[in-house]
This record gives sequence, C-alpha cells and structure tokens, in this order.
Amino acid sequence: MPLDFPIQYLKGVGPRRASLLARLGINTVYDLLYHFPRRYEDRREVVSAAAAVPGSVAVLRGRVVAGEEIKPRPGLTVVKLAMEDASGPFYAVWFNQSHVLKAFPPGSRLLVTGKVHRFFGRTEIHVTDCEPEGEDLHFGRLVPVYPLTEKLHPKLVRQLVREALDRWADECTEFLPPAVLDRLQLPARPEAIRQVHFPASPEEAARARRRFVFEEFFLFQLLVLRRRLAVERRKKPFAYRRNCELVGRLLAGLPFSLTRDQERVWAEISADMDRPVPMQRLLQGDVGSGKTVIAALALARAAASGLQGALMAPTEILAEQHYGVLRDLLGAAGVEVALLTGSVRGDERELVLSGLADGSIPVVVGTHALIQEGVTFGRLALVVVDEQHRFGVRQRASLQAKGYHPDTLVMTATPIPRTLALTLYGDLEISTIRELPPGRQPVQTHVVSPQALDRVYALVREQVAAGRQAYVVCPLVEESEQLQSQAAVELAAHLAEEVFPDFRVGLIHGRMRPQEREEVMAAFRRGEIQVLVATTVIEVGVDVPNATVMVIHDAERFGLAQLHQLRGRVGRGGHRAFCILVAGARGEEARARLAAVARTSDGFALAEEDLRLRGPGEFFGTRQWGLPDFKVADPIQDYEILQLARQEAAELLRQDPGMARPEHRGLKEEARRRFGRGSGYLGVS
Ligand code: ADP
Ligand code: MG
Repeated sequence: MPLDFPIQYLKGVGPRRASLLARLGINTVYDLLYHFPRRYEDRREVVSAAAAVPGSVAVLRGRVVAGEEIKPRPGLTVVKLAMEDASGPFYAVWFNQSHVLKAFPPGSRLLVTGKVHRFFGRTEIHVTDCEPEGEDLHFGRLVPVYPLTEKLHPKLVRQLVREALDRWADECTEFLPPAVLDRLQLPARPEAIRQVHFPASPEEAARARRRFVFEEFFLFQLLVLRRRLAVERRKKPFAYRRNCELVGRLLAGLPFSLTRDQERVWAEISADMDRPVPMQRLLQGDVGSGKTVIAALALARAAASGLQGALMAPTEILAEQHYGVLRDLLGAAGVEVALLTGSVRGDERELVLSGLADGSIPVVVGTHALIQEGVTFGRLALVVVDEQHRFGVRQRASLQAKGYHPDTLVMTATPIPRTLALTLYGDLEISTIRELPPGRQPVQTHVVSPQALDRVYALVREQVAAGRQAYVVCPLVEESEQLQSQAAVELAAHLAEEVFPDFRVGLIHGRMRPQEREEVMAAFRRGEIQVLVATTVIEVGVDVPNATVMVIHDAERFGLAQLHQLRGRVGRGGHRAFCILVAGARGEEARARLAAVARTSDGFALAEEDLRLRGPGEFFGTRQWGLPDFKVADPIQDYEILQLARQEAAELLRQDPGMARPEHRGLKEEARRRFGRGSGYLGVS
C-alpha cells in the first residue's frame, strides 16, 4: 500500500528524525496522516501592535528595524528585535534562541505569534512561532498543534504533514460505506484528512474529527461484534450435570446464605453453563461483595460433572488464599483442589501437572503459572479469572486456550460504568453484584496529617485491645521493589519497638520467600499477629474478617482505585471498621482523590469519580480494561457517536456477516489493521 511508505524517506527526515518520529508511533506516511492535531491555534487574524491586547496570544506582522542579544544571567539569552508595523514600533522577544538574530537581519519582514505584553506603553511579544512573510504554512490560518516529543520542532511536523497530504491524501481511499457517510453527514476520507490537519474553520475541524471518531469506533465495533457472532457459533464439547447435588451441599454448608444479588448472578452463570455456547461473562461486584463463593459454586459444578475448572488470581498471596477457601469448601465434599504458582516446584509441581493433564485433579487455583507452556488439562471446562483488570486480554485468552471452548467467567472489583461496558465489552455478558452481605457497615474513612499519627496509633491500640486486628500499609515506592520492601521492614521495626512493643507486629512484602509469606498470612488469619505491616501485596482480594483498621501512609501517592481496594481489606466482618489515610503536603488532584475516597464507599461511584479526575485517557488505558487505546475517539465524550457506530456496525453485519462482499473489503482490511491480530487487542480469542 502506498500509505505504508516509510517516513524516513520523506524529504528532510533521515534516520535521526525518523527515530524521534518513531517515538510518537510514526513510522509510515499512514501513521503521520493519522497523527492528528491536539488542538489548533487561531492565527487567522493579524492585529496591529498598537491594538494588541496585553495578556492575549496574538499574531503581529512587521519589519525588523534592529536587533540585539542580551545575557541577563548565566543560562539565559534573550534576543530582542525592534520591529515596526503601520501602527508603530514594537519588540519581538525570543528566549534562548540566539540563531534568530542572524536569521532575521534588519529589513526582514516577519509574522510572529506569542503572548502580548506592554511595558512603558511599548508592545512586546514573546514569540513562540515565527515565519518570514509570504510563506503561509504556519500563519494566516488555523494552525495545527501536534503532540510532540522534545527534539522535534513543531514546524517540522507541520511541514511533513503538509507534504504527506499533498502527495498522499488522495490515496486515502474511502472505506466507509457511502450510505453510512450519507446518513451521518460525514466528510469523505481524503477530504476529512486534509481538513483535520488544516481546517478552514473550527466547524470544519470538528466535522472532520467527528468522521475519524466514528471511523475508529465503527471499525472497533465491527470486530467486537464479529467476534461475538463467532463465539455464538461455537459449541462446547461437554455438558454439566443438572441438579448438581454437590452444589446443593456446598450451599447448605456455608456459614451464611447468599444475598439476593449473589443468588441472581449464580442463576445467570448456571444458565450460561447450561447453554451449548461457551460462557463469556464478566462478574463485577464491589470489594467484599462476595464473588469468591460464586466462583466456588461454578467450580464445584464443573468438578461434580467430571470436568475440570481453573481459577487464576493475579498474586500468589491471593491464589494461596483462594486455595485455602476452596480446599475447605470443596475438600469436605471429597473434591481435590490443587495449587499451582511459581513457588510450587519440583515433585509437587510434577504431581499437579500430571493430575491436570490426565484430568484427575478437578479444580486448580493458581497465578500466571497456570498459563505457562507445560501446563495442560485433560478436561478443562471452566476458566475463572479473578481481579481480571490485573490481567491482559492475552492472558485471559491463554488460559482459555488450555481447553476447547471452555466457559469463561472473569471477575473484577473495578467496575466499568454500565453504559460503556455494554458497548465496549461487546463480547462479554455482564453480571453485577450491587448489595454487600448483610451487617456490613461502611468503613469510616478519615484523611489525617502525619502530625496526627499519635491519635491514629491510639485507635489501632484501642481496636487491638478489643480483639481486632490492623493493617498498616507503608509508603509506596514504585521505582524499586527492593526499596519498597526495605521501607516496610523499617516501618515494622519502628512499630514493633517503639509504638506497639506490647503487640505482635508482623510484616509482609513482595521480596519475602513465598513460604514465609504464607506463614505470615496464616498467622494473621489465626489472629496471632495483631498489627500487620504490609506493602501493596495485600491490595487485592485478601480476606481477614477480624481486621478492622487500615492505616495507609503517604496515601496521596496511591491511585483512587488502589485506595478503595486497600480499604476493602477491612470491614469484612460484623465489626465497625476504619480506614485512615495519612497524607502530608499534597496537590489539588491528590486532595480531590482522598476526599472522594473519604466521602463514598461505593466502588461504582468512585470509578466514575476516577474517570472525572483522571480523564478517560488514563482510565481507559489497555492496562485497566484490556481495551485498546483509541487514538482520536474518547468513549466518554464521544459516547453518542459510539452508539451510532455500534448500530451501524450491527446493521452492516446483519447484511454481510462475514464482511465478504467486495465493497466491504477495504473496511475489513482497515479494521484488521487497527485492531486485529498484532495490535494486541482482538487478535486472540
Ligand atoms: P470479593 O467480592 O471482594 O472477592 P469475597 O468473596 O472475598 O469478596 O467475600 C468477602 C467476605 O464476605 C468473605 O469473608 C466471605 O466469606 C463473606 N461473604 C460472602 N458472601 C456472604 C454472604 N452472603 N453473607 C455473609 N458473608 C458473606
Ligand atoms: Mg475477591
């Protein structure tokens, strides 16, 4: 394809600039043309120096009269050109750009833009961009402003885009169906690509952008919906026993009865399991809402049917905990449960592997270790992924690939707003647990300054004296696991020796040997450790109902979702629970984040708040949802277009399910190019 022309061979690029462009993800002409402006600077109007408004950004046109270079202090060079236009004299000022003096000798005619100042009645413009009069790429229009890396001059990118447009815009052949363009009043592709870079008006820019937003969503929806159709055509090669006695016994043996929400989602999941088509379901429920027991029921049903089920968790601690819970629940009924993590080695590992391969182990719990190559299953029917937002789409797919069209249940406590979920997760059904088990009181959350630590520790003391337990999470050191662990060791020593010499203080962090860690967690669970100093290794899933205090040091360093997860470690029993966010000097965003956590205990509300504070760019990173990073489109702001795209995609697939018609060939290619195999999103399924 002509658009695949490598950017390196464009005039004025070469290997060095090519590597700078590559950092922006620009390798070909196609990439460059789809590198859209972040915004436009309106340089359509030239004002006179006398009329320029101080504080505004303006464009002036004038003749250079004289120039000088001043060095007011080391490291700062100021070039000041005395200029004039019809209204009188003015100064144009550049900082640290000595070359300007030579480039524009007296007599040169220039266009300059920048912020306007007025000193002693004289207009002065602090120049951000300039150009000799007569060239018109950077002036006299809406000028595109691109996302840039440091060493790339904005003008260079603008020039390259101009050149690419002149040579290749017409090669951007249309792939959207004409009827769709018509219905939605969208500009055709060659026209739109010109307009999005060099629009004649803000309205034209908006219209062009709208087309590309639609285009991006539409291509994505086509793939999502096609994948869904493909899944719907699959047939499971196995069936579960109905009226499963084991499940009944398990339910009867629980120390509690299921909440109504739990019953409902279990019914949804069982119904999926009964269908001939593989289940693809997301179970979302706030921290502590009781998702594990639902997973246990599904796994029990698989085991009771002579099939296998696997539960994958993101950390060893969590896998070990789930293993303990499932062993207690299922072991009593004679169902064997195995554990497979990186720390299960040697003979033990061999035993698990062979049991999984020959199908004699019905239920396994593990970490990423489950998706390693040597692991095979004899009769894998059910795959459960806990805390699924911690895994990539590929990892989920790798576990699925261990079976033949297995049922898949993914669970998360980081909810996605429902409206979006339906549209974006086209390939997943969604079950939601909204209600928490009865008797839970919201965790009382307080933000305090480090000066109030005495009072915080007094609260810990009071709770421990009453028989409860506490977590103290040490400051986050993201750069290094070693420094992080060291911080935890020091905090534990301090607490054990000086603050709580009369209590049993324990310690858990990422650099401990798995066995040590397991012992610490077991001791904490048995109540032998009263105060547990921890890093974020306890962030997800850990469940010790007797713990009632969560102290988080340097809370401002944690993200909102992370704080909510940590808080979710307490308040799991019937007792009143506390979460204390200790935070020192903090910026506005951190303050807003902490205030939000203190204000609401509803994870769904917090997710929306997070979205508002951080913006969808962050929120919708591939990391959190396994969704693609859309380049132009924004699923929140462009939600209305997203819905249109979904409708149009569904309609097109209704008429041409395989996108096999010749007129849809370009569309299919483009969808693959953006979101298909290799892009890391829908390539696997
Ligand atoms: P999460 O949804 O965060 O994974 P868990 O499955 O860890 O939550 O459950 C949290 C706690 O609530 C566990 O101690 C669990 O035994 C308990 N629990 C679950 N369901 C109920 C229920 N219906 N009634 C009372 N307690 C429950
Ligand atoms: Mg959980």
